[in-house]
Amino acid sequence: MSKVLTALDKSGSFRVYLTVSTDMTETARQIHNTTPLATAALGRVLTGAGLMGLMLKNESDKLTVQFKGDGPAREILATAYGDGSVKGYISNPNLDMPLKADGHLDVGGALGIGQLTVIKDLGLKEPYVGRISLVSGEIADDLTAYYYISEQQNSSVALGVKIARDCSVLCSGGMIIQMLPDAKEASVDALEAMLGELEPLTSIIERVLLRSAGMSEEGVLQEVLQEIFGGMPEEFAPEILEFRHMQWQCDCSEERLERALAAIGKKDLREIIDEDGQAELTCQFCEKKYLFDKEHLERIYHQL
Ligand SMILES: [Zn+2]
Repeated sequence: MSKVLTALDKSGSFRVYLTVSTDMTETARQIHNTTPLATAALGRVLTGAGLMGLMLKNESDKLTVQFKGDGPAREILATAYGDGSVKGYISNPNLDMPLKADGHLDVGGALGIGQLTVIKDLGLKEPYVGRISLVSGEIADDLTAYYYISEQQNSSVALGVKIARDCSVLCSGGMIIQMLPDAKEASVDALEAMLGELEPLTSIIERVLLRSAGMSEEGVLQEVLQEIFGGMPEEFAPEILEFRHMQWQCDCSEERLERALAAIGKKDLREIIDEDGQAELTCQFCEKKYLFDKEHLERIYHQL
């Protein structure tokens, strides 16, 4: 489980969502057995989606973020709920590409040219769907552009995943700064100046973790917040509202996959029963395998 700090600046101009999501990204890495580049790409998408999920009104509200490109990563998808649960996958977990000139993992190159689609299911008749062309494929830039273009909302998204020598996740984090409707103009200028100078989020997190061994997660987040916003004018200093949490959680079940089998239709299901005599389905989010034997398949068939 990862804690998420939410804060509001003193002037009521912007809200901050900040998390250290190392646990969640490492869980995803172990489930999908991803290479460092795939871990970085998936971790950024999961963390971004998780924070966006917490911005939804109700705990049952659901948000899906899909990155699709012509690069070797092909598709990265994450689904998050208002209660902080997040799941996701990358269609190519074996992704491998040379580092960029600056030594960073080339997530943008791995995605290539493509689109970002955000689907919000708020329990209404129709889900809300927003789609933009990828800006850089580096995930945070694309989510920032999505808010601006699709939701006419000024936000700034920062996401990062740092990989350890043994290919596990060293640290992972994310931050969304959301401008509020009554934002003071001076706050926008102050934020722009601050963000222009800001070092990568993972560098700040790493430094705080190094000097505060044994500190609580809440304490670490407060220190990271201070490092980021410490130089802002006092009137725009963020004040902590609450701590929430997000965690990796897949909601797949046998019933869900029964429905998926039923959805392929009577004719195709008959074929599977007669030719294979069983069906093994794998949840693409958590890789859990579900085996349906002949008897079980017949039962689904006869219910159709
Ligand atoms: Zn699952």
